[in-house]
Amino acid sequence: MSYDDQNIFAKILRGEIPNKTVYEDDHVLAFEDINPHAPVHVLVIPKGPYTDIGDFSANASDLEITAYYRAFPKILDKLDLTGDGYRVIANCGINGGQEVPHFHSHILGGTKIGCMVSK
Ligand code: AMP
Repeated sequence: MSYDDQNIFAKILRGEIPNKTVYEDDHVLAFEDINPHAPVHVLVIPKGPYTDIGDFSANASDLEITAYYRAFPKILDKLDLTGDGYRVIANCGINGGQEVPHFHSHILGGTKIGCMVSK
């Protein structure tokens, strides 16, 4: 899948659409999901143009990959999720139910998240 620069997260990164930012640095943006599935639902995206976790892991620079994962403890601290726990999900492609084709991780918390997959 080639990267579609008209996807909604690309527009957020260009400042064309507002977002509720939780965390930002040179390589990473974390913001509140517009349609939350839990009391805390935050999306973490790299600023580079990667479609999913496979594309990101294969093609991002070591600096981008390190920055992405090093941002998590900072975001989790801000969200106060480290004590009671949370879930991280990355939907990929059609079978994964990915709606926005820019790599992102969902952080869900603030309650017990429940089953890992629907039956
Ligand atoms: P996924 O199905 O993994 O691609 O998830 C995409 C997520 O993006 C969904 O949970 C949407 O609610 C969320 N979303 C879509 N548009 C926006 C937006 N403008 N701001 C914040 N979250 C959004």
